[in-house]
Amino acid sequence: MVAMIRDWIVKQLMLGEFSSYGDVCRKSVLVGLKVSLVAYLLNLSLHGLLYFSGLMPYEKMGDALFLATVLTPPIAFTISVAAYIAVGFAIHDLGVSRDELEWLSRTDMLSGLANRRAFLTAFETTEGEKTMVVFDIDRFKTVNDSHGHSAGDKVIGEVANMLSTVFGDRSLCARLGGEEFAVFSGEVPFGEFAALSELARMRIAGLQIEVDDSVVQVTVSAGIARCSENETFSQTFSRADKLLYRAKTSGRNRVMFCFGPGSPTETVFQAKSA
Ligand code: GH3
Ligand code: MG
Ligand code: MG
Repeated sequence: MVAMIRDWIVKQLMLGEFSSYGDVCRKSVLVGLKVSLVAYLLNLSLHGLLYFSGLMPYEKMGDALFLATVLTPPIAFTISVAAYIAVGFAIHDLGVSRDELEWLSRTDMLSGLANRRAFLTAFETTEGEKTMVVFDIDRFKTVNDSHGHSAGDKVIGEVANMLSTVFGDRSLCARLGGEEFAVFSGEVPFGEFAALSELARMRIAGLQIEVDDSVVQVTVSAGIARCSENETFSQTFSRADKLLYRAKTSGRNRVMFCFGPGSPTETVFQAKSA
């Protein structure tokens, strides 16, 4: 019996919508109606039982039933609605806090992009072929040295915004740390992804970032790697990072890629002096 009641309560809670206070109130009325109906039926059954066993403490059965009808449903309804609302609001608030905490644990606070952990998890749980690009801001240390750390932070934010704008919803953009970013997609075809990477490089080079009284311009270098089905994050990342290194040593402000895992062909996608 206790297990049945527990299962029923759990089912009510599972069916209940806790996504907003309004949903909790609507559901509480429904639960209140059910509870008061059950309480009323129980009350009537007990009256019948007492009556037929000769244990009825009242003289007039009609009065007793009238009182049961007038009192039981409203009392049961009021108490159950109040209890459901109290518990429902608490569950709603806990759910909101949990979502916020989960969002915080996945997000890089400075850029608003995914953090390294979220990026790695998303990459490894995305099946099939994927493409990854790693971007690094060129000579970023000089931005900090010339304009201060907070100017550097603003530059990181602007570069992050541009990456999100260019790559859109079909890719995941992340800040891996410092002035290094990564983007991957399992949806965008390799050619289009490479073109988007080049577009991002051009758009970032065209940014006029206002800091205090001056305007800062930065460039980025990038390496793109294709990931086949069985490859891990580290294997793909390592190839992208090697190409990024080559982009740096070839003069910066450029995107480099190779055609596939193990492919000997490495092509400068676009070379431009920094
Ligand atoms: P390269 O073109 O070779 O990448 O040169 P770089 O100057 O960009 O690279 P380097 O690794 O020498 O310097 C990176 C600098 O980024 C050093 C560090 O102080 C700065 N940095 C790392 N994280 C942050 C941050 O969150 N905010 C700011 N403002 N600076 C940061
Ligand atoms: Mg750098
Ligand atoms: Mg770096």
